[in-house]
Amino acid sequence: VKDEGRGAFRFFEAVMDVQLQNRRALEQELRGAIGRGELRLFYQPIVNGSTGEIETFEALVRWQHPIRGLISPAAFIPLAEQTDQIARIGEWVLDTACAAAAAWPLPWRVSVNVSPKQFRQSDLPALVAAALARHGLTPSRLVLEITEGVFIQDADTAVAVLTDLRGLGVRLALDDFGTGYSSLSYLQRFKFHKIKIDQSFVHRLGQDADSLTIVRAITHLGHNLGLQVTVEGIETAEQLGMLRDLGCDQMQGYLFARPAATTASEFDRARLRSL
Ligand code: C2E
Ligand code: CA
Ligand code: CA
Ligand code: CA
Repeated sequence: VKDEGRGAFRFFEAVMDVQLQNRRALEQELRGAIGRGELRLFYQPIVNGSTGEIETFEALVRWQHPIRGLISPAAFIPLAEQTDQIARIGEWVLDTACAAAAAWPLPWRVSVNVSPKQFRQSDLPALVAAALARHGLTPSRLVLEITEGVFIQDADTAVAVLTDLRGLGVRLALDDFGTGYSSLSYLQRFKFHKIKIDQSFVHRLGQDADSLTIVRAITHLGHNLGLQVTVEGIETAEQLGMLRDLGCDQMQGYLFARPAATTASEFDRARLRSL
């Protein structure tokens, strides 16, 4: 038994070793990924809750790795945050998204995710102003998606940065709303343009009755505060049916379209309107 235990421990160590090496390799490779042109932006439509018309595309980053294939942001954004690469990646995302949106038909907007670490590390208002000017994009066509993580550590500074960003004329969304510890208190600290209800509530819609009550309550709360409300993660017609009458301003999810490399060909606008 003792031997077996030791064997299991050695095996565990070996696995840890491989994981660590993998992580280090990935980290090294990520350092060169922008220079080698391996990052890609995918776009997922966000549609008007009542008309079904496209209003915005959320830009979602992927890493097209020459050997490992398409790597999801969940696998490399945390790594980028831990190794201080997030500022460079975030700058690339912002610039690429603004360049793309400048060529889109009006009034489509582009929505860009900003991680808390990136928010703290870079002079975001200066970067945003520069990207808008470089591509001639009207500020109101850019939405920044922020999570409440930006308020942890230094909430006063975060509010000051957000206020500067709002002063530029860009729109600000509070993402993953309802999952954090004190989502409500952050609505009090800063006037966002919209909140995005976290998709975990939508995914549980069929299974427990409380989820619909929560989504409805958040929608009313948002509207009473003068905010737009987006619901994301809608996958099934059943979920859409349950959400339809709540008066959500925007909807997003695989039911409408998955994130894709282009904004045009990957989905059928007629089908969107018919949903
Ligand atoms: P998020 O900002 O909450 O983005 C929504 C995620 O849900 C995306 O995953 C999207 O593809 C996925 N999604 C959309 N509709 C559905 C649906 O109906 N069902 C399900 N199950 N999922 C859906 P993705 O693209 O893998 O991104 C994951 C997370 O990575 C994002 O979550 C965001 O936090 C982060 N991320 C993505 N792109 C960027 C970026 O450019 N910068 C930063 N800082 N973070 C990013
Ligand atoms: Ca987002
Ligand atoms: Ca989200
Ligand atoms: Ca998220």
